Amino acid sequence: MKFFFTYDIEDWYHTANFTELIKRDIWSDQHQRVEVNTRKILSYMTAKGNKGTFFVLGWVAKKYKDLVREIAEEGHEIASHGTHHEIVYNLSQDEFRQDIRDSKKILEDITGEEVLGYRAPNFSITDWAIEILMEEGFTYDSSVFKTLFHDRYGKLTQYESESRECYKLKPGFYEFPLTNIPVGQKYFPWAGGAYFRFMPYWIYKLGLGHMKNKCEVFNFYLHPWELDDSIHYKDHLSGFNRIRQSYNLKACDQKLEKLTAGYQSVRMKDYLNENFLKVE
Ligand SMILES: [Zn+2]
Repeated sequence: MKFFFTYDIEDWYHTANFTELIKRDIWSDQHQRVEVNTRKILSYMTAKGNKGTFFVLGWVAKKYKDLVREIAEEGHEIASHGTHHEIVYNLSQDEFRQDIRDSKKILEDITGEEVLGYRAPNFSITDWAIEILMEEGFTYDSSVFKTLFHDRYGKLTQYESESRECYKLKPGFYEFPLTNIPVGQKYFPWAGGAYFRFMPYWIYKLGLGHMKNKCEVFNFYLHPWELDDSIHYKDHLSGFNRIRQSYNLKACDQKLEKLTAGYQSVRMKDYLNENFLKVE
């Protein structure tokens, strides 16, 4: 089993927990951690020659152009995480179009390379967004996250598929679903993020072992802020939201280092080329 090592490049205050607490006009005033944490990810990936897919938020890219260049120069794929981390199903279709168009342009202007992929903030994808992604020149989405637990995620009902691998949504457009563990008709969240953070590494590995012959490429995701235990969440969050955002950060850093050392990777655009675009 290979891995899609994917990272949603945003800072700690971009998450849904902070939508009401830290609004866009004061993002720049916050403790900026995205560069240092992304560089940590890059060092783990580079140590084993792994190449990943980085879904970069347009707002971050605009502020940290050198960081985006650095990611691309190390051979990773640059994809889009939208511009302002808006929940897709809460936007109008025009607002969504503007958000993804801006992000694509910001990223392409920095790297000079075409951006093919998109991941919705909070996996908030919805059916109408697919046509717009196609019209705006994207080739794939990676936002379908089937799981038992989460209330904020979106879904594609028109394009229902049981596939765990990349599949075609429409001619010329593809979906890379996040990889979870099927148990009967349900899916246990195993793709990364908080689930990766919460579980002891040996349990996480048991799950990966279980998927070994059931999955060709495991689609894993993480955020740079999930490696950082220096952020003062106590000042902002309490209860479940604080746990969800800040549990086990230090261990997560070590776990990512081990995980990236233990598996070979493939970039999403290369997988598409190999398996779909070449033969069509
Ligand atoms: Zn995000």
